[in-house]
Amino acid sequence: MSAPRIGLGGVVRGWDGMERTGLNSGYLRSVSLAGGVPLILSPLIGPSYAARALDGVDGLVLTGGEDVDPAWYNADRSPLLDPPSRERDLFELALFAAARQRGVPILGICRGIQLINVALGGTLYQDLPSERPGPVNHNPAGSRTDRSHAIRLAAESLTAEALGAERTQVNSFHHQGIRDLAPRLIATGWSEDDLIEAVEGMEGEPWLLAVQWHPEEMHADAGAPERGLFKALVERAGAAAAVSVDS
Ligand code: MN
Repeated sequence: MSAPRIGLGGVVRGWDGMERTGLNSGYLRSVSLAGGVPLILSPLIGPSYAARALDGVDGLVLTGGEDVDPAWYNADRSPLLDPPSRERDLFELALFAAARQRGVPILGICRGIQLINVALGGTLYQDLPSERPGPVNHNPAGSRTDRSHAIRLAAESLTAEALGAERTQVNSFHHQGIRDLAPRLIATGWSEDDLIEAVEGMEGEPWLLAVQWHPEEMHADAGAPERGLFKALVERAGAAAAVSVDS
């Protein structure tokens, strides 16, 4: 079986004094290590070509980044919202819709879980510390690979199977989170303060798994359970690719 092609939502940022488009390399390394071919899908492609950009793509990763605009879930902006990107929101909402329609397997990470929840009719906390104060710091200072809080996973969920555990410690650097879960999603992971940290799609719907932490940052650790998340996506994408070649 040939390696499945995995599209990853990219970012547009200023760096080295120029506007550039790309993605943190941890995402691409994680897909490569899992046996997939990582392809950056830049928001510069634009929403009207999002479906075209997915042609030949067997799996999709919706990545971390900017806050999702609360306008998409009919909420006013909190003063603590970080600036959203209309360009990226529009592109990724179109990408998500096209991937769902085609049954392309989807892995969401951080902003990705939030975008998926909003796209399917859910809402977000725009700023956890002010809107949902609690005992867990979801955005502590420190390294991006620090495992700073525990999560528990639903037994026999895709998430638990992919990670090979029902409890684990995860890194955490997000100030937003899921408030109302979208009707087509099932929560499968929670932090100790009961914030949703993982979701899955419903039985009979396209394969979907999304997490609130950053598994891609753990790529250098060969023993990290997070490798299983990328493996699960690549395996599923490979199976779907094989079926489409056969038919
Ligand atoms: Mn967290």
